[in-house]
Amino acid sequence: MKTSLSTSIQNVAVIGAGTMGIGIAQVAASAGLQVQIFDVNSHVLQQSLAALSARLRKRVSQGKAESHTTEATLARIQVAHHLSELSAADLVIEAVAEKLEIKQAIFGELEAICRENTIFASNTSSLSITAIANQLIHPERMAGLHFFNPAPVMKLVEVIRGLETADVVIDTLKALALSFNKVPVICRSTPGFIVNRVARPFYAETLRALEEKIANPATLDSAIRDAGGFSMGPLQLTDLIGHDINYSVTQSVFHAFGYDPRFQTSLVQLELVQAGHLGRKSGRGFYRYQPDNHYDHNKSQSKPNAEPPITLTHPLNIIASGNWQIFPEFKRILQQNGITLEEPKQNTFQSPSLIVNGVVIMLTNGELTSKHAQILGKPVVQFDLSADYVAATTITLSCATQNSHQQNQDAIAFFQSIGKQVIVLPDYPALLTMRTVAMLCNEALDVVNKGIATAEDTDNAMRFGVNYPKGPLAWGAQVGWESILQVLQQLSEFYGDARYRPNPLLRKLAAGYATLSFKELP
Ligand code: NAD
Repeated sequence: MKTSLSTSIQNVAVIGAGTMGIGIAQVAASAGLQVQIFDVNSHVLQQSLAALSARLRKRVSQGKAESHTTEATLARIQVAHHLSELSAADLVIEAVAEKLEIKQAIFGELEAICRENTIFASNTSSLSITAIANQLIHPERMAGLHFFNPAPVMKLVEVIRGLETADVVIDTLKALALSFNKVPVICRSTPGFIVNRVARPFYAETLRALEEKIANPATLDSAIRDAGGFSMGPLQLTDLIGHDINYSVTQSVFHAFGYDPRFQTSLVQLELVQAGHLGRKSGRGFYRYQPDNHYDHNKSQSKPNAEPPITLTHPLNIIASGNWQIFPEFKRILQQNGITLEEPKQNTFQSPSLIVNGVVIMLTNGELTSKHAQILGKPVVQFDLSADYVAATTITLSCATQNSHQQNQDAIAFFQSIGKQVIVLPDYPALLTMRTVAMLCNEALDVVNKGIATAEDTDNAMRFGVNYPKGPLAWGAQVGWESILQVLQQLSEFYGDARYRPNPLLRKLAAGYATLSFKELP
């Protein structure tokens, strides 16, 4: 393109006034930009604007916003009755139905209306930016600008580069997102971009555990949320998102990656979709809901199966060994409880472990607990990974089948004595949070290895787009690349399934042949 693309954005046009379009218009107007908004359905447009005014004015009446700022924001949003009124736009953000032909047609029409240096952006969550730009005379002006729902609240914006996108377009959109007080991450246009791709195992691993009858939904959710440290369990989250939507995102990523087993869809979830049990919006998903959207405790088991408190009649003799440096907060709990920490010795477990009345309690490494007990000739209990062992109210364990009842009770009693609720799962390799984090990490490394996004942007995408407690890569680095590799290798062998194959970059990191440098945002 001869004309230089707009680097100064003053006038923004938003196409589509649905859930996302109206939120994006609010974000841009709140940042002081002039906004025009267009929708083929003028009724939807009027309704959306009325709802936005009501929402913002309510904040004024609640004392949460100033009247003059709110009125100025609303005044900056103007209705456009036809695309031809958008000729002055420096940037057009499209947020219409998720159909390639519709998006291509809109941008095709706009190319004849807007200036040659107007930037075109799509809020698509799943379509290829390269494909949307395919009909344009100037495809270099087109990029993805993927806001998350609700756009005024969620911090992340994925800035997506199509095959032809000009650098200046990416730089301008990144600067614009920063001016909106958002966290922009840059990625290449690949299926699911960063968030919708890297997040797939978060749902898939728990859906698999449910399919394998490891525990009921409330217990599995608790293992990820209350023990693992995620803000929501995958099953309660998919109930909230809607199983139709969550299933179709997985299906589209699975299809786009040539049916790679990493993205295999879940039959349990498909059946919910087929039954019309779409989650909260239909009153029933994995849980049942009352009309006020609260759990219906009478009809669904919404409480996890935690172990009842144990009253011990004998003392616990506890020694800690292995590498507790990786979990400094857990180490502090042990020290506060007067537990002796032995320095790791050769031929002892290097992974953090405890010996409680002769029972070896160790961080899961992906091997079955019973296999450890067989090799060691000792009773063994494994515990699951947590983002923060101090903040976690719960810990998840699995016990070797060779252990006696008393040995298991001693292990459970120890964790209860340090204030944890205990969930005991059957002997399940890598338990739940460890296998989920290892798979998130593996996927994040694939994104980095293929140059789709930097390590830093990949972690920020997961922290600010889906509120993960840690970026998967920072979490993997903390646990140790060798440990993450070992978990995936054990799972690959256990299932004989290509889904768990370790990423080449993980193998290099574990061997010390590669390093990953990144700085996390606070
Ligand atoms: P929506 O159904 O709430 O709104 C879409 C709006 O576009 C409707 O008001 C419709 O009348 C209008 N529209 C349809 N065709 C049009 C056309 N040719 N010209 C002008 N307006 C037209 O949809 P949404 O949830 O806001 O999603 C919009 C886009 O944002 C999609 O591409 C979606 O994938 C993406 N997205 C959605 C979410 C989400 O959580 N809803 C999150 C991120 C991205």
